[in-house]
Amino acid sequence: MPTNSELAHWDSHHYWHAFTQMEDYDSVVIERGEGVWLVDTMGQRYLDGVSSMWCNLHGHNHPRLNGAIRQQLNLIAHSTSLGQGNRLAATLAKRLADIAPGDLQHVFYASDGSSVVEAALKMAFQFWQQCEQPRPEKTQYVALGKAYHGDTLGSASVGGIDRFHALFKPLLFDVIRLPTPDPRTVASPTDACKHFLQQLEQVLSAEHEKIAALVLEPMIQAAAGMVFHPPGYLRGVRELTSRYDVLLITDEIVTGFGRTGRMFACEHESVTPDILCLGKSITGGYLPLAAAIASPEIYRSFLGPTTSGRAFHHGHTYGGNQLAAAAALASLDLFEEEQTLHQLADKGQKLTEILAQLQEHPHVAQTRQHGLIAAVELTPDPTSKLPYAAELQIGSRVCQAAKERGVWLRPLRDVLVLMPPLSISLEELDLLGTVLLASIDRATEDMSNLIAASP
Ligand SMILES: *Cc1c(COP(=O)(O)O)cnc(C)c1O
Repeated sequence: MPTNSELAHWDSHHYWHAFTQMEDYDSVVIERGEGVWLVDTMGQRYLDGVSSMWCNLHGHNHPRLNGAIRQQLNLIAHSTSLGQGNRLAATLAKRLADIAPGDLQHVFYASDGSSVVEAALKMAFQFWQQCEQPRPEKTQYVALGKAYHGDTLGSASVGGIDRFHALFKPLLFDVIRLPTPDPRTVASPTDACKHFLQQLEQVLSAEHEKIAALVLEPMIQAAAGMVFHPPGYLRGVRELTSRYDVLLITDEIVTGFGRTGRMFACEHESVTPDILCLGKSITGGYLPLAAAIASPEIYRSFLGPTTSGRAFHHGHTYGGNQLAAAAALASLDLFEEEQTLHQLADKGQKLTEILAQLQEHPHVAQTRQHGLIAAVELTPDPTSKLPYAAELQIGSRVCQAAKERGVWLRPLRDVLVLMPPLSISLEELDLLGTVLLASIDRATEDMSNLIAASP
């Protein structure tokens, strides 16, 4: 058995962490989980305030999910999805088709969010090459400003967050980029929806003949800093894309599976996309799995004799993996057994109360919430409400203070994010709120002292 200090060294030297400056990395090595709690090798407990990067739903070490995986493990861990099926992936496909919006019913599996967006983009492309009346000139994509769809080159091409994507620009394909539909960026927020839809209509009316698909994160652009679209925007996007014969790909990798209070964000505006991308929480946050669910019209265009070459030319080794599918099925069962969506109303209300309290803090500029997704933005100056200078890293300072108080958070730059597992209790939510308030107090006080002391 390695000692804790050996582990910490391996963890910060050999283990190259994702989206982490390793020079500043403060090693935390998790050993186990219990409900919403993470426990590290030193025995330190942290409330998992961001659901282990937005994917955990029912808590860690859930007996039902553990049991489902163990049971499947006694049968088989993995067999291929190429030219062969398996009991669990087939059952999951049927269950997903049943709960997916509208007539979406054909499930293509991948292993993570980026790879499923990649699959959806290629699916849309191939569709136009071989649908009933082929439109081979439809080869471009429309994407939103500050979009995030993953890190592989295709998914990064439709992404629009400069600090992630700009460096790789020479490797990415061009897309038609729309301004971020963030109501805070327009003069009259009440007209925001109309304003952003007009911009979209201009692009579509001019260029629809070249456009294969529009891809967006419905309602909430999470990685952008929890940007909330104006109500009605998603609905309008669906109407315009349908009118101009452009496929709509919705990336519900964050918003899927109850996060916003409904099973899928699209349901809030009664929208059915042509392809729905799911990932992150599809297995309850247990194992890597993702799915693109396509409409019958898309699926049909891929049918034909083997020699027609119409099959989807794409796939991943572990797509449809049985252990992951077992977790996903058990997670869907839990939605029924634990009435997860029903229970969310009270939790959402509690979170609203917590945010209202935070909003009273002189250094809180704005709070936003949809279901169990919340964002808090800070300001050094209650009058102007302008943000802190980026180099002060106020976001990570607050999260560091929260970590010292037993709550694990990860900010999006200076936007604080609260996104606990859906299974969190009202008492644990209270604790999360109390710790966040104390941490904001601590970090903003430190900052005021620092600013006062500087010449
Ligand atoms: C996380 C995320 C992805 C990428 O998923 P990975 O599993 O990290 O590849 C894609 N889209 C959205 C909206 C995401 O938040």
